[in-house]
Amino acid sequence: TPVIGVLALQGDVREHLIALAAVDAVARPVRRPEELAEIDGLVIPGGESTTISKLAVLFGVMEPLRARVRDGLPVYGTCAGMIMLADKILDPRSGQETIGGIDMIVRRNAFGRQNESFEAALDVKGIPGDPVEGVFIRAPWVESVGAEAEVLAEHDGHIVAVRQGNVLATSFHPELTGDHRVHGLFADMVRANRTAESL
Ligand code: GLN
Repeated sequence: TPVIGVLALQGDVREHLIALAAVDAVARPVRRPEELAEIDGLVIPGGESTTISKLAVLFGVMEPLRARVRDGLPVYGTCAGMIMLADKILDPRSGQETIGGIDMIVRRNAFGRQNESFEAALDVKGIPGDPVEGVFIRAPWVESVGAEAEVLAEHDGHIVAVRQGNVLATSFHPELTGDHRVHGLFADMVRANRTAESL
C-alpha cells in the first residue's frame, strides 16, 4: 500500500486525507523535512498559495520538496497546490516562491475575478465515464504549458488540469466532491512509480 502525504502547512488537508484513504492509500499529514523521506507520493492541498509558500520556507521544507520533486516523487496539487507546482506564476505576490515541477505559467485567482466560486462538468483525460464535477474556488488557470506538459482538461478555453511526468495539477478541488477518481488516478501514478523504482 502506498504511503501518500498531504502537505499540512495550510489549506484543506483533512479533505485530501479522506479522499486518499478512499482510494486505498495510507494517508498522513506531512510538515517536517524528515517526514518527506517516508512517503511514496505527496498532495499539496488548496488554500492560499502565498501562505503555503511562506510557511514552506519557514518550516525548512521548500528546498527538500524541490529536491524530492526533481528526483521524481509523484506529487498532486489542487488549486493553491497547482500554483505551488508551476515553474512560473504570472503575477506572484512579493516573496512568493513555488516548488515547481510542471513547465507551465499559472495566473492566480484567474476565474475569481468574474466569479468567486462555481462548479463545472469537466472531461478529464484518463478518467473515463461521467464527467468530473469541478469545484472552482478563486481558482487559477494555466496560461501556457511547455512541450513536456500534457493538458488533461480545459474549461471555457482555459487549461485547468495538467500532468508532466509524475506531477499532476488541477485548478479545481476533487477532494470536495466525494468523487475520488482523480485521487485514484494519482494513487495509480504513485503505485506505478513504486513498481518502477523497485525494478
Ligand atoms: N486563490 C488561491 C491562491 O492564489 C487559491 C484558492 C484555492 O486554493 N482554493 O492561492
